[in-house]
Amino acid sequence: MIRFCLLGSGSSGNAILLDNGHSKLLIDNGLSYRQLCARAVLAQLDLHDLAGVLVTHEHGDHVNGIGTLARKHDVPVYLSRGTYEALPPRLGALPKPYVFDAGATWDLAGFRIESYSVTHDAADPVGYAVSAGGAKVGFAFDLGAVTQLVRARMTGAHALVLETNYCPDMLYDGDYPPQVKQRIHGRFGHLSNDDAADLLRDVLHPALQTVVLVHVSENNNTPAQAQAVVRRALGSHPAALHLAEQHAPTPTFEVRHEAARLSA
Ligand SMILES: [Zn+2]
Ligand SMILES: [Zn+2]
Repeated sequence: MIRFCLLGSGSSGNAILLDNGHSKLLIDNGLSYRQLCARAVLAQLDLHDLAGVLVTHEHGDHVNGIGTLARKHDVPVYLSRGTYEALPPRLGALPKPYVFDAGATWDLAGFRIESYSVTHDAADPVGYAVSAGGAKVGFAFDLGAVTQLVRARMTGAHALVLETNYCPDMLYDGDYPPQVKQRIHGRFGHLSNDDAADLLRDVLHPALQTVVLVHVSENNNTPAQAQAVVRRALGSHPAALHLAEQHAPTPTFEVRHEAARLSA
């Protein structure tokens, strides 16, 4: 069983808390320590028993809060080699950095963690799939292209956390400078609603319980548009579809090995 909650999602700060009933993990922390604690209280969660922080890449919306958190909780931070080397110095020293090669798999406090390389405009970015008690959650955000490797890592997941960053029409019609549009749309940028829907179609299977859409742009997308595109890909599949907001925690989702679906 894994419970997870997105405490924040998007360009103003990402943080995902996972709980296997014994210990917890955080994936990224772009929130200040105060914000992180306030969001955890809102979500009726706490940061006790935190076994580690997994970092996807060095962009500020994913790492701004990891230094303070790691020092206050004396918690290990797991980073790919290139991410560790590219961390902004303003974060300060990490008390327990664990540096891995992108693609590594390891066990930590009852979790199995699989990292995988993604294409994004960062030094050595990775995504994760995390399992506990036979339940698997796949995370695919901050990536510009769905590769075979992304599909392989998302296969068999009971919950999927997928980036729906932009609606292509809104991006093209919007006010961003051409080079920024190109960056977002490009292979080293972000996934569109349609990219996420295509990925979902490719890995959809009967035991999928929950899909959570994340990293939704406030300028180039709308929650309704993102959900509509992905809902079409789900078709008649009964998996629950949610969308994470930038500034408030999601509900806590619980996924199990079997099809017993619960979400609070
Ligand atoms: Zn990001
Ligand atoms: Zn990024």
